[in-house]
Amino acid sequence: MARRDLYEILEVPKKASIADVKKSYKRLARKYHPDLNPNDKAAEERFKEISEAYAVLGDPEKKKKYDSYGAAWDAGADASQGWNGVKFEGFDFDGPSGETGGFSDIFESFLGAANARKATGPRQGEDLVYPVTITLNEAFTGKKIRLSIRHTVPCKTCGGEGRTVSGRKAPCRRCGGTGRIGLSKGPFSFAQPCPACHGTGQDAGDICRDCGGTGAKETTETVEASIPAGVDTGSRVRLKGKGQAGRGGGIPGDLYIETHVLPDKVFYREGPHLKVKVPVTFAEAVLGAKIEVPTLSGGAMLKIPPGTPSGQVFRLRERGMPSPRGATPGDLLVEVNVAVPAVVDERSKELLREFARLNPENPRSYNRPRGS
Ligand SMILES: [Zn+2]
Ligand SMILES: [Zn+2]
Repeated sequence: MARRDLYEILEVPKKASIADVKKSYKRLARKYHPDLNPNDKAAEERFKEISEAYAVLGDPEKKKKYDSYGAAWDAGADASQGWNGVKFEGFDFDGPSGETGGFSDIFESFLGAANARKATGPRQGEDLVYPVTITLNEAFTGKKIRLSIRHTVPCKTCGGEGRTVSGRKAPCRRCGGTGRIGLSKGPFSFAQPCPACHGTGQDAGDICRDCGGTGAKETTETVEASIPAGVDTGSRVRLKGKGQAGRGGGIPGDLYIETHVLPDKVFYREGPHLKVKVPVTFAEAVLGAKIEVPTLSGGAMLKIPPGTPSGQVFRLRERGMPSPRGATPGDLLVEVNVAVPAVVDERSKELLREFARLNPENPRSYNRPRGS
């Protein structure tokens, strides 16, 4: 039986581009799909025909041959098979609930090869996160650390491929290099990407025994990193390429060192700022004084004016945390608290009674009834 011209079947001009072929095929496949034309023998025949035509014209290699040799393009193929090993004898479509999975699977089968190639292409390795706990002092000064990390590196035996491919690329033993095999559903068959080579048509080789086919091996490595001054809890330092190995020649992932800064007994951190509470004596608060206050970079002097109330906050600019990004450092907020003297001796008590007589003010004046 003389075969009709495949371009004609797909309703496109002769030697139309693959993109046009695909577009037309999709349109026709939707129109004549058996699910949409139940019990329509003619539509079923037409669907079969366009599917067959697309199996050839949708494939760059086969299309090239067809363009050169016409209907005789696959004359050398096994006579018992149809289009280069793909049988199209009938059609048995179960619909979405059936085994064949529905309409979209048809496209998956035909277009799957290209996607399968993408899925097996180079993939970047996963990133790793290592938590590191440091003190506030270490966060202030920055710290050099040494870490023993476990991560994967490409398997040397198979070069990270996961498979042992001998020498040059050979055609796939399962599909003979076409990248597709016939899938039998009842009396009808479809082409689907060859599972052995994922549609690439190349011999995938045997699974590498050294890495079990993963292409990667776990190893322990010592890495060094500089944690910059000023980091906070949740800050991350990136070590490029120290994550998990990539797949299929992909680049490795990165390693992130995530800092957790311990709370400090003296300083309370609020973003870039530090807070500290400093006790002063009653006399210092009343008379004013120059007092020493702690900072993370040693001591600093703070002048408090006479009559400083308890709880007053003084700001020492840029004496807080440095910025890991080189911005202006934070401030140090000093809260002074008047310490009540533990008076025991009679002489001190006598002086305080004298002081009270000389200063008869009532600090609870807001409780006094109005006008009295
Ligand atoms: Zn290996
Ligand atoms: Zn194959």
